[in-house]
Amino acid sequence: MKIVELQQVEKVYQGVPALQPLDLELHQGEVLGLFGHNGAGKTTTIKLILGLIGATTGKVSVFGEDPTRSDARHLRRKLGFLQENVSFYDQLTGLEVLQYFARLKGVAKQTCPELLAQVGLGDASKRRVKTYSKGMRQRLGLAQALLGEPELLLLDEPTVGLDPIATQDFYHRIEQLKQQGCTVILCSHVLPGVEKYIDRALILGQGQLLAQGSLAELRQQANLPATFHLQGDALTLPEPLAARLQHSANGRQLAVPLAEKMAILQQLSGLAGLEDLDIQLPSLEDIYTYYIRTQCGPEAGQ
Ligand code: ATP
Repeated sequence: MKIVELQQVEKVYQGVPALQPLDLELHQGEVLGLFGHNGAGKTTTIKLILGLIGATTGKVSVFGEDPTRSDARHLRRKLGFLQENVSFYDQLTGLEVLQYFARLKGVAKQTCPELLAQVGLGDASKRRVKTYSKGMRQRLGLAQALLGEPELLLLDEPTVGLDPIATQDFYHRIEQLKQQGCTVILCSHVLPGVEKYIDRALILGQGQLLAQGSLAELRQQANLPATFHLQGDALTLPEPLAARLQHSANGRQLAVPLAEKMAILQQLSGLAGLEDLDIQLPSLEDIYTYYIRTQCGPEAGQ
């Protein structure tokens, strides 16, 4: 089932093009990472899916409906949204804030204490939000987004302010929600650690789609090399490998095109003197940097 479908969706704000014609299909249980530099069009894409703004041209469908139609209000109960730089009424307690949002969403307020416990705010639930740290406010934002067991979750910078353990807990929660059939769009500038939790990445640059696909597909498209880290004092490489060997503080490294990875691995494994070998594939960060640098130029996002 298509949960989100964008067909040639374009957004122009008072003459400023924010999003150039974009196609996107998201199916039930998929987790999409939406990445791009500042001003690339991520928030615009999220707002179009939430129905907060209309497309200048093209068609947006969420659960098969136009999210901007006034009779699409029932859709909002299926949606969870965490906005960037979340802020709440400081004088209320965490529990009161969550109960307030539960009432707005038509969700039973009895679910709130359990939800706060899930995000690690059980003990702080009766403290005023003004006493919360930045990470605690972010956790409260997550609890708000998770109210009513949403079928589509849109999360803008969800791990900002979270400590490493809370970040891990957050991603495990995303995994659980995915298992339950929830579809997730995750926008982030913090790329390390995200890649194992997303099914697909979509990279935007200056309002344009730069790349879209699974990490394996993007690695193929970008054609960045794998890095072989070699260990062995007595190791001597034959030409032409020897000419490609680089020496750094991390030891000896060989940049290997992905298409040659297996052939070179076989060649190396037969060499005397090779004591150990680690293979590092291009990371999501490497792929992201490659697309932004090659297609947007050095000033992207400045
Ligand atoms: P960031 O990572 O900084 O949050 P983003 O990728 O979310 O950036 P958008 O907020 O979608 O970027 O903005 C895309 C472009 O549209 C930018 O050039 C921005 O200045 C412009 N823009 C966004 N909202 C408006 C608006 N209401 N009026 C005019 N221009 C806007």
